[in-house]
Amino acid sequence: MSSNLLPCKLCGEQKKLINAHIIPKQYYRRIIPKGAKPHLLKFEVDDVANESKTQSGIYQDDLLCSDCDNQIGQYDKYGYEVLPHQIDESKLKEPFGHGLKIYEIGQIQVETFRLFLVSLVWRAGIARDSMFELIKLGEYEDGLKQILLGKKTDLLDTITAVVVLFRPPKYSEIMWSPFCSKMDGINIVTFYLPPWKILLKLDRRPFNDPFDKFALSVGKPTVATVQDFWSKGEFRLLCDFHQKSRKAAGLE
Ligand SMILES: [Zn+2]
Repeated sequence: MSSNLLPCKLCGEQKKLINAHIIPKQYYRRIIPKGAKPHLLKFEVDDVANESKTQSGIYQDDLLCSDCDNQIGQYDKYGYEVLPHQIDESKLKEPFGHGLKIYEIGQIQVETFRLFLVSLVWRAGIARDSMFELIKLGEYEDGLKQILLGKKTDLLDTITAVVVLFRPPKYSEIMWSPFCSKMDGINIVTFYLPPWKILLKLDRRPFNDPFDKFALSVGKPTVATVQDFWSKGEFRLLCDFHQKSRKAAGLE
């Protein structure tokens, strides 16, 4: 068997597999500053920060056939539309007072956007790159795949997410590794797709109050919550990264 004729991880057919992005490349491209060389720096922060360059993000050549990649590409395309790079400031509202802002995304095709989220987390869960090592799907891996194969599963009805417009005071254009955690006891996966952050629920229980009010829901206009600060965990991550990257650069 030729090494490039392997079963596609989605349809299972033995085909020529192509370079498939894990996080759609647009999300990388949009964080490249205008006029900069067309590459991003990829850092792995372990004991030391390892640096490498990437042209268009992370892809893997033994995941998908071109038919499946094209299908997922349609969801990606819709994902870019819903989560644009440019923010329309007139959509920022403060309906609750207390400085709590929301961003009105408006009516979207929640079902299609949800398929984008399903494909994103499924790809991240099966990817080998260390950027995705914190994503452990366990029993969800097969269920997510069945959804992408068009099979109606009861899992699909439990998939929802809180969309966050993430505008920290500095370093807003870093794509941090996605990770699994719990939010108020509910299992979630966090993705950073600057300037957005997605809190994707992978749990059969519903979100607790107040997250249930902001979560994607079929037939309801979509709103994002606005986070203009670093959470404690994010700030720790940033400090750690800063310190290790300075050390790696010989500055300390
Ligand atoms: Zn396939």
